[in-house]
Amino acid sequence: MLARYHAIEHWTGDTKLQQQLWALAQYHTPDKRAGDYTQAIMDLGATICRRRKPSCLLCPIEENCQAAAKGLTEKLPIAKPKKNIPLKQVTLTLIRNSKGEIFLQKRPPSGVWGGLWSLPEKQSIASELADLAKQPCDTLETILHTFSHFRLEITPEVYQLDTTKAQTLFAVMEASESVWYNINQPAQTLGLAAPIKKLLQQYANTVHL
Ligand code: SF4
Repeated sequence: MLARYHAIEHWTGDTKLQQQLWALAQYHTPDKRAGDYTQAIMDLGATICRRRKPSCLLCPIEENCQAAAKGLTEKLPIAKPKKNIPLKQVTLTLIRNSKGEIFLQKRPPSGVWGGLWSLPEKQSIASELADLAKQPCDTLETILHTFSHFRLEITPEVYQLDTTKAQTLFAVMEASESVWYNINQPAQTLGLAAPIKKLLQQYANTVHL
């Protein structure tokens, strides 16, 4: 609310600004009945000067509010600036066998989704896939997952294998690090990366339509 009252057009989480806001808060706090004042400010913030859509017409301090005077009440307070993090892209494969199970691989212990079960990256199994299924039979909606240092755009492609080809794939990959995953009876113990869980759910919803 202080950011609006003083029309501060910067992100208020900044340390220097926090100090200024603290000084302003102290300046406004009366010597007498400070507790009542603080309670009133909290009530005003909760009911009138809400973070979104403040009710300025009902506000008892509207006359002296700089944001109201400058037409900035909807723009303030300024949100935390977003970090400009790079975007990476990957194509993940949902390879399904004739029973409708999906092929999962365990990720290496370190790195992205370390030790969790995931869908194979198309690039990493390109040669095996080329022999088994030339084209995806379906695609799902692209999803965006944000890590601390980059965003990952995931394009899922669905491939269908017959029994023989599914067995071949399983044999080619290390069986202990691979599994055919039944989306209708998901194994509770299988640790899935969050976006993989989301993709499998998206796939299950599509299949059950
Ligand atoms: S006039 Fe509007 S923006 Fe200013 S303090 Fe009141 S409710 Fe908040």
